Amino acid sequence: MEFTDIKTQYRALKDEIDARMRRVLEHGQFILGPEVRELEEKLASYTGARHCVTVASGTEALLIALMALDIKPGDEVITTPFTFIATAEMIVLLGAKPVFVDVEEDTANIDASRIAAAVTSRTRAIMPVSLYGQPADMDEINAIAARHRLAVIEDAAQSFGALYKGRRSCNLSTIGATSFFPSKPLGCYGDGGALFTSDDALAKAMREIRHHGQSGRYQHTRIGVGGRMDTLQCAVVLGKLGRFDWELERRVALARRYDELLGRFRPIRVKRDRTSVYAQYTIRSPERSRIQDALKAKGIPTAVHYPQSLHQQPAYAAHYRGLSFPAAEKLAREVISLPMSADLAESDQDLIAAALVQTLP
Ligand SMILES: *Cc1c(COP(=O)(O)O)cnc(C)c1O
Repeated sequence: MEFTDIKTQYRALKDEIDARMRRVLEHGQFILGPEVRELEEKLASYTGARHCVTVASGTEALLIALMALDIKPGDEVITTPFTFIATAEMIVLLGAKPVFVDVEEDTANIDASRIAAAVTSRTRAIMPVSLYGQPADMDEINAIAARHRLAVIEDAAQSFGALYKGRRSCNLSTIGATSFFPSKPLGCYGDGGALFTSDDALAKAMREIRHHGQSGRYQHTRIGVGGRMDTLQCAVVLGKLGRFDWELERRVALARRYDELLGRFRPIRVKRDRTSVYAQYTIRSPERSRIQDALKAKGIPTAVHYPQSLHQQPAYAAHYRGLSFPAAEKLAREVISLPMSADLAESDQDLIAAALVQTLP
């Protein structure tokens, strides 16, 4: 059994993906070829955002979003400590400071009711993460941002396709940033990512920054990076779009089955006015290592997203001494992610649930 099954997906889409990749090999426009624009148009229309700018990875997307907003040394960006490192890492890379706000224990997303108290005169942006595939309380977050004139970047690396009050993730704030890392809900076959905005000036800035700050050929009007997504990787994502809605339906159906079978393991809660795309299906237990060992003995892989709150990571801890984020710390001790992908067989899911129930006293 695999933790994330992307091989079955390839077998189902082989003809489409192979044909699209072959076309790129034949036309030879490996950088910013026609598939790049085609993908950007399709993804923008899928999310409802006016602009999509594909980039080299989800990490690069966050960096370029922060650069386009002109985040500078000394600035503060409010974010969650319970996320993948890239969220905070790109803030630090620009010399700015991640100001952590604790999460809700049941959804694992940033607790919007605590954000206002963290705003200072140096705050420039709020960066909520749509963790495990579920958007945070974006209306409340956008309202705080509007009151203090802050930008909101949704780290939507795990949530492409999710809905929040009828709107798509990536189109819920100033900028949405997603990732096409192979195991994400919409993945490519290497690194890739995308930025979304309906602000024309920000879209232009992000498009230029990803390409060395060029406004025209060898005309460098701003500081940029080499942050383009390969044409071949765009072709892979294009080859997957026809099956994507079906895959999301499968993920949700499988998550419902897990919910029914595993209620006693306190699965992460999804709020009623939004959906999750279940980048991870995550349960909680104070006896995590015993449960992981029991499943491993039966050939069932599990993972921990994430084993440490970011304020406790070695490279960060010195800057957050004396601070505690109890919900993030508790989740970091208790969360277990189970096998999840659109092609997970219900028979395998039954084996996983049975193995888990056997660990109960
Ligand atoms: C995967 C991920 C990223 C980084 O995406 P890459 O494409 O791997 O660079 C950023 N933030 C979160 C929350 C992620 O899960």
